Parts: sequence; C-alpha cells; structure tokens
Amino acid sequence: MEDRMFRNAMGKFATGVTVIAAELEGDVHGMTANAFMSVSLEPKLVLVSIGKNAKMNSIIQQSQTFSVNILSEEQKEMSMIFAGQMKEERQIEFQRLGGLPVLEHSLVTLACKVYATHEAGDHTLYVGEVKHLNVRDGEPLAFFAGQYKGIH
Ligand code: FAD
Ligand code: NAD
Repeated sequence: MEDRMFRNAMGKFATGVTVIAAELEGDVHGMTANAFMSVSLEPKLVLVSIGKNAKMNSIIQQSQTFSVNILSEEQKEMSMIFAGQMKEERQIEFQRLGGLPVLEHSLVTLACKVYATHEAGDHTLYVGEVKHLNVRDGEPLAFFAGQYKGIH
C-alpha cells in the first residue's frame, strides 16, 4: 500500500491539534501532534504518538515528562511554528503548569509524567499520567484532510 493512500485515508479522521512540549537541561522544545487520545480515568492517562525520527522523541525519552497543549482556533500559527511550517524562527514564551512548560491561550494544558512507553513501527507511543490540568473556554483548532479548519 502506498504511503500517500494511507495518509489520505487517515486524514479523513478529523482531529483537534495539540502542541507537545518537553524540557531538557533548561531548553524547551515543542512539536505539533494530532495523534493524541484520552486513555484511562483511573489513573488519568493520555497517549501521544511521536515519530522515532522526531527530535521530541529523544527529549521525552530523557525527560520522562511532557505537556499537552490543546490548541484553540486562534492558535493556528502555533501549530505551524511547532510543525516546522513557518519560514522564520520565532521566540515563543512558555508558562508553567506543575513545573512543566505550557503554551498560553491553549484550550487545555496537561502536565504529564511518562507512565508507559510502547514501540510501534516508526513511532513511539507515550502514555502519560496527567498530574495537573488547566481548562479555558474557546473554540478548537481542527485538522481534516491535511488542512486546518474551524468546527463551525
Ligand atoms: P523540529 O522539527 O526541530 O521542531 C519543530 C519546529 O518547532 C521547528 O520549526 C522548531 O524551530 C520549532 N520549535 C521547537 N521548539 C521551539 C521553541 N522553544 N521555540 C520556538 N520554536 C520552537 N508528528 C508526530 O510524530 N506525531 C503526530 O501526532 C504529528 N501530528 C501532526 C499534526 C499536524 C497537524 C502537523 C502539521 C504535523 C504533525 N506531526 C506529527 C509532524 C511534526 O509536527 C513535525 O514533523 C515536527 O517538525 C517534528 O518536530 P521535531 O521534534 O522533530 O523538531
Ligand atoms: P498528511 O496528509 O500527511 O496527514 C494526514 C493524516 O495522515 C494525519 O492526520 C495522520 O493521521 C496521518 N499521517 C501523516 N503522516 C504520518 C506519519 N508519518 N505517521 C503516521 N501517520 C501519519 O497531512 P500534511 O498536512 O501533509 O502533514 C504535514 C506533515 O506532518 C507531514 O510531514 C506529515 O507526515 C506530518 N504528520 C505526521 C503525523 C504523525 O506522525 N502521526 C500526523 C500528522 C501529520
């Protein structure tokens, strides 16, 4: 099966968009990800799928902590920045939640500790236990068929 056919098919599953952030030796790194899901209530677990070649993968492996920032429709630029879709580099300020870096203006921020790690083909699945969370009102940024959308 061709990669493009698979991606086109998976792209028909409409998702929100998150930025995953993690910190190593004082340096904060962010990465856009839509492979995110809620997993368990007891304990409170979520999952993110990170490409093995992504810089983020080695950072979470070492830090064993990460934040998930669920983006609002006003944060399309953040998604593009942290997916490497902008030409110029930008200085982004992070706030803190439970000591972890989080993006201001996100709909939801989660501070997670790695609970389990599973190798899955060319990705690593990180199950995170949610230690702290913050929620605010707003409309989500969505991703469908390779394009950013609003949901209304
Ligand atoms: P890089 O490519 O080095 O970094 C990503 C970008 O973020 C760079 O432009 C970098 O300059 C910038 N950046 C990082 N930290 C900072 C900072 N502190 N301040 C300012 N800029 C910073 N990939 C997956 O593995 N899983 C997914 O679920 C996933 N979902 C995606 C969903 C969407 C909608 C899109 C557009 C992409 C998705 N990707 C996903 C692809 C992934 O976002 C890119 O491949 C990304 O470039 C990989 O990041 P990296 O960790 O290798 O680091
Ligand atoms: P696209 O058409 O590549 O993505 C559509 C869908 O295909 C995504 O929502 C995802 O479900 C799936 N997909 C894409 N690349 C994948 C990968 N490497 N591994 C597993 N599933 C993947 O959309 P686009 O706008 O061309 O994406 C921009 C870039 O971001 C591309 O380089 C793409 O590979 C990457 N991306 C990666 C993932 C991921 O690793 N899970 C998810 C979305 C986008």
